[in-house]
Amino acid sequence: MKVTEHINKANGKTLFSFEILPPLKGQHIQSIFNNIDPLIEFNPPFIDVTYHREEYTYKELDNGLLKKQVVKKRPGTVGICAAIQNKYNVDAVPHILCGGFTKEDTENFLIDLDFLGINNVVALRGDAVKNETYFKAEKEGHKFASELTSQIQDLNNGKYLNDELLNSSKTNFCIGVAGYPEKHMEAPSLDSDIHFLKKKIKNGANYIVTQMFFDNKKYFDFVAKCRTEGITVPIIPGLKPISTKKQLNLIPHRFKVDLPDDLVMNVVNCKDNIAVRQVGIEWCIHQSKELIKAGVPLLHYYSMGKSTNIQQIAKDVF
Ligand code: FAD
Repeated sequence: MKVTEHINKANGKTLFSFEILPPLKGQHIQSIFNNIDPLIEFNPPFIDVTYHREEYTYKELDNGLLKKQVVKKRPGTVGICAAIQNKYNVDAVPHILCGGFTKEDTENFLIDLDFLGINNVVALRGDAVKNETYFKAEKEGHKFASELTSQIQDLNNGKYLNDELLNSSKTNFCIGVAGYPEKHMEAPSLDSDIHFLKKKIKNGANYIVTQMFFDNKKYFDFVAKCRTEGITVPIIPGLKPISTKKQLNLIPHRFKVDLPDDLVMNVVNCKDNIAVRQVGIEWCIHQSKELIKAGVPLLHYYSMGKSTNIQQIAKDVF
């Protein structure tokens, strides 16, 4: 079923979902199941699986020279999605990127998903590869998520890259895209970011999932702005519980989001990361309850490969 159908079917009840990362190359898929198992009792209608593009690493050769290598540290997004649908009978939502993909790669990726019975995707641009300052699209690829959204929507209309294909089969993807309550880090202003978000919706996106935020006001203001701009699709809030002191610096740096002073001071005053974890859980429970009260369709949690804190939050909230 499509994400939007799950939301409509819930009839105003707030649903629970979460995002997982494929395991590092070399790990067993069981590590993923171990993270999903404790969360299944909260009836997620779908589970997102992130996509991780290639990275450049340098290997020292015997002669002392360095050899540049291209590696994918977390492959397996499509396989994990198929395994989730098969094992749990829950819809899996793979993320798909512009970065590292030509349009032909994208088309073939989508055909695989369609054949596997996966009909939800989150369409994203992706970030610059490490060692590069700016995002660079493939020569035959997309520069922005709005262009990728158009290609997916074309396939939904039976329009393939080769327009000589006759009687081509239509796909049936429900398309999610990213939204940034505190604006995307490269956007000159929130207004300009929402302008391009609108383009993603115009090109066929069916819902928005937000970047993590730690102050609900940022989400409420963002939704109000989007509605004023005529965006009517569901806007799903994304939440992440803080779990280590290090994240106080890492999260604002990596995701360009603010942490409220109260949260920061509560974490600073913790004597160890066990206490930080508890602070993160309590903060996230508070955020979740307020969002449910405001009638959000679904709460989407970023598990980042660890589910025990999400389980504790869900136990209290759902
Ligand atoms: P876009 O919507 O293309 O926007 C990128 C920037 O360009 C924005 O600043 C926007 O305002 C601007 N822009 C858009 N269109 C135009 C235009 N036509 N002209 C000029 N400027 C324009 N990354 C991964 O690698 N894998 C994942 O699985 C993944 N999952 C994510 C899930 C969520 C919910 C979120 C919020 C992010 C995720 N990311 C993931 C990170 C994402 O790839 C980055 O944030 C990336 O930098 C932007 O992606 P986007 O799809 O929002 O880009």
